[in-house]
Amino acid sequence: MEVHAQLKTKTKLFCGCSTQFGAAPNTNICPVCTGQPGALPVLNQVAVEFAIRMGLALNCTINVQSIFARKNYFYPDLPKGYQISQFDKPLCENGRIDIALASGTKRIGVTRIHLEEDAGKLLHQGAASIKGATHSLVDLNRACTPLIEIVSQPDIRSAEEARLYVEKIRSILVFLGICDGNMEEGSLRCDANISIRPLGSSQFGTRTEVKNMNSFRAVEQAAISEIARQKEVLLSGGAIVLETRNYDDESGQTTSMRSKEEAHDYRYFPEPDLLPLGVDAPWLAQIKSSQPKLPDQIRHELQVAQLPESDIVQLLNDPQRLHYFEAVCAGRTLPVKKVANWVLGDLSALANEGKFSFTQPSVSPAHMADLVALVEAGTFSGKLAKEILPDLLQGKSPHEVIALKGVKQIGNDADLIPFIEQAIQSNPGPLEQYKNGKTSVAGFFVGQVMKATQGQAKPDVVNRLVREVLDRS
Ligand SMILES: [Zn+2]
Repeated sequence: MEVHAQLKTKTKLFCGCSTQFGAAPNTNICPVCTGQPGALPVLNQVAVEFAIRMGLALNCTINVQSIFARKNYFYPDLPKGYQISQFDKPLCENGRIDIALASGTKRIGVTRIHLEEDAGKLLHQGAASIKGATHSLVDLNRACTPLIEIVSQPDIRSAEEARLYVEKIRSILVFLGICDGNMEEGSLRCDANISIRPLGSSQFGTRTEVKNMNSFRAVEQAAISEIARQKEVLLSGGAIVLETRNYDDESGQTTSMRSKEEAHDYRYFPEPDLLPLGVDAPWLAQIKSSQPKLPDQIRHELQVAQLPESDIVQLLNDPQRLHYFEAVCAGRTLPVKKVANWVLGDLSALANEGKFSFTQPSVSPAHMADLVALVEAGTFSGKLAKEILPDLLQGKSPHEVIALKGVKQIGNDADLIPFIEQAIQSNPGPLEQYKNGKTSVAGFFVGQVMKATQGQAKPDVVNRLVREVLDRS
């Protein structure tokens, strides 16, 4: 697999133009990224840092010195006539990544990660695609935006493994905060080099390169259909042609695009306008020490904290939500499952309605932690906690809400006993069950009392009193 990830830098790889997506065509451009004579590239340090972060996350060797190279070819979206990339001395090499299969963990080697610039975009006019178009427009906003290309070893053995590999790469990129991982907008693109061989053979067969897979599902489906196609060709006595093939999401099939170019066709040579890229030890150490936690480590920690697997999966799918969850739990001894219930339940529902944001939370993690702690301590009920949530959304703390609203907690025995006696009198059936030894019925009476007091009774006191009153009834 070759995965191209667009780095989330503010500016482009070799100039100060903005990388913002969706700007009017040809507004984020300058002499450097449009290839004007005499314009010289200046390397973006943050892009290098991001590439190193991915290299560290994939256990790569970070090369102290790497070289930028010109990859020469013509296409209208490439104004310089070459792409600045890295060739024989990339920034990161010899990494690995583990994917989880039903049969256990599988390790996939990572050959290299290198930095390169993206090309512009062609907009074909007069038809839905280049086929039948009358003319094409060029938008160079994307030209020179930073990419990393992550190349795996030929270790992937099935369509499912290919999908799991890309999913894992994406989650690491997103957790590192260096790529938004949006496959539909093209900030994450992947190509699959696919070959098959007779069982027992150690020699790889001739490969084809499949492009244009815009989702995880497409990666898997493209591999399934390409493997089937190659099998059919070989079994009917034909030969696989080294070529680039296009994946069509609608038909689920690949079709021939062009004969495959090889590295020597591009006439790579060292980029004369850029010095060799040096990474010194103090900088590397600084990047290492500020690496964020990766999904595998977070998963392990949440498993140790005994959070159910379904909650872990939901949290890992959404880093912003996870960060909020971690902030609520940070430095406090709270029941993690209760925190997860708030985050994945009420707060997520509000977020879906646009009434709450995990990135700029109106209920601060500290206030949420207070709320969970107050319920846990039995100071007030879960029902009441839910009722005061709208006030918390206004930025108030749980303690302030209690003070302001005069939310009274009924906590003394004398006030609560009449409610309990009333509940018992109105429910002779459950009382009978209790007397016959079914003590779990006490929970039913607790519920009745909480209802009658509109959630204002202190749950821990009610729990104790209900049993006392039942026992003497
Ligand atoms: Zn520019």
